[in-house]
Amino acid sequence: MTVEDPDSTATGGGGTTSPGAAAGSEADRPSPTADPAVRRPTGDLERYAGLFAARTRVMKSSAMRDLMALTERPEVISLAGGLADTTLFPAEDLAKVLSHMAAGDSARALQYAPTEGMADIRPCLADVMAAEGTVIDPEDILVTTGGQQVIDLLCKTLVDPGDVIIAEGPTYPGAVPTFSAYEADLVQIELDDDGMRIDLLEETLDRLEREGRSPKFIYTIPTFQNPGGVTMSLERRKRLVEIAQERQILVLEDNPYGLLRFEGEPLPTLYSLDGGRYVVYGGTLSKILSPGIRVGWAIAPAPVRQKMVIGKQGSDLNSASLSQLFVAYYFRERDWRDYVQRQSDVYQSRRDVMLESLDRHMPEGATWTRPQGGLFVWVTLPDYLDTTDLLARALHNDVAFVPGRAAYLDGRGGNSMRVNFSGVGEDDIREGISRIGGVVAEQLEL
Ligand code: PMP
Repeated sequence: MTVEDPDSTATGGGGTTSPGAAAGSEADRPSPTADPAVRRPTGDLERYAGLFAARTRVMKSSAMRDLMALTERPEVISLAGGLADTTLFPAEDLAKVLSHMAAGDSARALQYAPTEGMADIRPCLADVMAAEGTVIDPEDILVTTGGQQVIDLLCKTLVDPGDVIIAEGPTYPGAVPTFSAYEADLVQIELDDDGMRIDLLEETLDRLEREGRSPKFIYTIPTFQNPGGVTMSLERRKRLVEIAQERQILVLEDNPYGLLRFEGEPLPTLYSLDGGRYVVYGGTLSKILSPGIRVGWAIAPAPVRQKMVIGKQGSDLNSASLSQLFVAYYFRERDWRDYVQRQSDVYQSRRDVMLESLDRHMPEGATWTRPQGGLFVWVTLPDYLDTTDLLARALHNDVAFVPGRAAYLDGRGGNSMRVNFSGVGEDDIREGISRIGGVVAEQLEL
């Protein structure tokens, strides 16, 4: 096993590696020679392996990030990413807002900012939450570098090696490397069309209690789940919040997609049902404005937030001032809701095209979710098919998806895949699903 082979270490946390095990022998270490030429990286992994921390043995690479590198070739239709279609953002708006920001605030835009975030952006983020019916005090916001950093900072604050985190199965593939980096023991609870199976959650919590273990937090994406595309029902939301309060367990509600609703009635956030006692909220502008600006935020009970701030000080000092001020100017000068609506309209048509294409090209026995919003459809193929194998063939045919195993830390998901409908146009969705259908058909004939 080499440290470069993430899948060979993908069996999940548990913190079972002893620190000494990764240290390697003296002979493996690079010699502290004075000659810089000798100290330059040689490409010989063995030489460096002895330096790696024990946690690198259980760290799992992000399947999506790895795929991004493979799908950069222009001929590849990538249904793998979770990309907002940034071509929909008018370039002249970007130019105008940036030039007003430069004229009005260039010194602050180019300066460091408080770790907690700039005062200018707080009302904007509170406005975004209010649009989903969640009322907060802007002072409670911790501005982060994307929603990804919320997951990372909460783990940094709460998780010791071997601690239990509960998540949906499947869960956000980008959270899997974070959980594994903190050596968490990830316990995944099945999803159905109404979101996380709360009955199974309760059974799992009872079992863990009998084992004397209490999860550090329950991670959920209740609305238009990534990768499942399903939304947690109101009844389950209420029960989940009750469980958190009864058992005093924190819940991380990760909500990048809530405002991208195409149909159905909006549902209250877990945070608003709980009043912020046990629910930590993670938000981001990545899907409704731009992932390139890397702006997200967290709201957490004050003692937890304070630790997250300290964690963030050590990570990146503060999120980019340039991005925070851009958001403040953008919200002042343009109608952000109008832009979200325009994106939703486009994504709704693309979702419809994807569902029609799946109908046409998927084999008998395949099933898929029908999202009311968000960016993803989760496809489940007959269980003798393996989507990791299929992906290699698919890439050969210039099409990509995220194989289901990336959404689990325990090897499940082998016959599933996540396909995205926001990042490419309707013709590419038709062609992409047709190519995947072709690869599946070939596999069925083998
Ligand atoms: N959480 C979920 C559920 C996501 O889908 C994503 C992005 N795909 C993130 C967090 C990270 O978002 P950001 O780009 O804001 O870091």
